[in-house]
Amino acid sequence: MKVYLDAVSTTGVDGQVLDTYKKLLDEYYCNSDALYDDGVAIYDMQEKARALIGKMLGVKKDEVIFTAGASEANSLAIKGLALKHPERKHLITSVYEHSSAYNSFHQLEEAFGYEVTYLEPDENGQITPEAVKSALRNDTLLVSVMHVNNEIGAINDVEKIAAIVKKHPGTYFHTDITQSLGKLDIDLSNVDMASFSAHKIHGLKGSGALMKKQFVDLMPIISGGQQEYSLRGGTSNSLVNIVLARTLRIALENKEKYHDQLMAMHERLDEGLKKIVKINYDQGLPTLINIDTPIPSEVLLNALNERGIMVSSKSTCGSRKNEVNRTLHSMGFNEDHAIRISFDHSNTMEEIDYFLKNLKEILDKYA
Ligand code: PMP
Repeated sequence: MKVYLDAVSTTGVDGQVLDTYKKLLDEYYCNSDALYDDGVAIYDMQEKARALIGKMLGVKKDEVIFTAGASEANSLAIKGLALKHPERKHLITSVYEHSSAYNSFHQLEEAFGYEVTYLEPDENGQITPEAVKSALRNDTLLVSVMHVNNEIGAINDVEKIAAIVKKHPGTYFHTDITQSLGKLDIDLSNVDMASFSAHKIHGLKGSGALMKKQFVDLMPIISGGQQEYSLRGGTSNSLVNIVLARTLRIALENKEKYHDQLMAMHERLDEGLKKIVKINYDQGLPTLINIDTPIPSEVLLNALNERGIMVSSKSTCGSRKNEVNRTLHSMGFNEDHAIRISFDHSNTMEEIDYFLKNLKEILDKYA
């Protein structure tokens, strides 16, 4: 039996998304910027998809920039804004942003002389609106705080943070909604930029977008032609962009459809875990629980892996690096003993039970 409990890392492609993509691949190959009929047909479909995504997010069509995922969207939002406005040198973010955002800030600091304030989460794991408010300065260009943290699942009140930033002249607000999209509602009316990825919501890898309000000017990070409003050069990955609209629509429909199932699974998992291990964090996204195990996480990961169970000890993007884990460290959790369990509607209650049974057996043997 294989049990995948790492939905935060990535998800399998939805059957409808895959079918649509295969059909498109069979039929279309022209460059969407070509001016003959077949090129124009693909361009029109892509623009229709852009408009649909905009509608689902509650923004204008022209405010959706297709990217190759959330890492690229974060890099474009953060570096693109900073390099366009070199006169304002102060930036605010948190210590526990995804590496694509965190390292963009770090790069701006190291290579371009920006000053970055890295906010720490409070005891509830949140970056508070108050902390953002007191860090704001007259020369602050950007505040970037993620909606849901990908390692502990902490949920930040980004709508409140956005409202505070909105009142501050010359300061923009960006949020990474990769882990909340299709799971939590968010009102983007005060949000200037938001990044997300398709593969976290049963879409294709190498697909995502940056929502960027029209009044926000960015410096392109990938230089090139007219594609994506001249913000991202390179022949458009049009078919992938087209299926992103369908991916998002299905994810939003599934949010309602599977709500009760997911809450029931959360309860079963949470209660089961509490009988076996110490919980690091379970008060955020219901589909993610971070635990502290009595044995090193590496040993537990391997033992679970041998029984076909897939979980992570930390963000997959840093799984082969030996750096300090910023999220776990900032919360005072023991990173060598932390395990992240995450699921979604493609999991079953039987899988949760199978995981709990095996976890107990392994810990009884090794701990
Ligand atoms: N932001 C967050 C919060 C994430 O969890 C991830 C994926 N680990 C990313 C950004 C990067 O997404 P992508 O793989 O699409 O570049």
